[in-house]
Amino acid sequence: MKFLADSMLGRLAKWLRIMGYDTRYQSFYTKEDFGPLVQDKRTLLSRHAKTTARYPGSLMLRSEHVQGQLYQIRTEFQLEPDRLRWFTRCLICNVLLKKTQAEHLRLSVPDYVLYENPSQIRVCPSCGRHFWPGSHRERMIRQLENWGF
Ligand SMILES: [Zn+2]
Repeated sequence: MKFLADSMLGRLAKWLRIMGYDTRYQSFYTKEDFGPLVQDKRTLLSRHAKTTARYPGSLMLRSEHVQGQLYQIRTEFQLEPDRLRWFTRCLICNVLLKKTQAEHLRLSVPDYVLYENPSQIRVCPSCGRHFWPGSHRERMIRQLENWGF
């Protein structure tokens, strides 16, 4: 399932990406942007009934909070959250992360990370950011668990 989050839904887009869902998000769209993306089988998510009414299959989110929005999306599309897909996507670019060569890591990853779990480090092929398990990720996992995922 691929999503298209409108410009008001930056936080939601981040959490959908954390959970591994392909989520297109921009802080600004022109009027012409939505059409082609929706035709590309992206499900438009918006808080505005006027916007969702224009695109069949899109979802009007009732809650203004991320937790409520995620619940509604899960219920509406009968999504089964899959922990194996969590943290597989760049949170900024939305592309799938890749394994990387150890020699590239020395320059871009702190030594303790390299030492503790080198096989868990992933790189974004688009922006070059590195991601690895750590306290930041554990906080996000706890947040998702607190939300019931
Ligand atoms: Zn990236």
